[in-house]
Amino acid sequence: MQPEDSPAELAAIGLRIRHRDSDVWMEQPCAALKRLCCTVYEQRPVRCRKFQCQQLTRLAAGEIDEGDALVRIADTRRLADRVRHLLAQSGYREDGAPLQEQFDRLTSTRIDPELEPELAEIRQHLEAAMRELKLSLARNFLPPPGTGSVA
Ligand code: SF4
Repeated sequence: MQPEDSPAELAAIGLRIRHRDSDVWMEQPCAALKRLCCTVYEQRPVRCRKFQCQQLTRLAAGEIDEGDALVRIADTRRLADRVRHLLAQSGYREDGAPLQEQFDRLTSTRIDPELEPELAEIRQHLEAAMRELKLSLARNFLPPPGTGSVA
């Protein structure tokens, strides 16, 4: 949350606002995201208004066209789907938590490849898929470090 945000108003439109000491944040995945759209767009938090992903920045700068951006978005969504699929194959029960959190929870337990070779192989694929997803997010969506694109 930014100082200009009203946590009470954001909670009233359905966002899951959490507090700890003086920190206030919005639980992710966002409760307002439905079918890839923001359902509270006009009332969205300040940080959401200020965020510009690299695809939008490059599009505005004329470096790519909309088709390029849509392909990159679709590719990255496929990578996220692969991570979800491999989490499920690993026996992780989808609990609505952010993918990184699900991945961290699952991989906090080790697998003995001698005892469970198939599961160990799935784990390897999962770790590779997660690396690829994070690389794509960093390269194509998150603002480059130090650019100050997000307030
Ligand atoms: S723009 Fe903000 S409020 Fe809207 S869905 Fe995304 S994270 Fe949620």
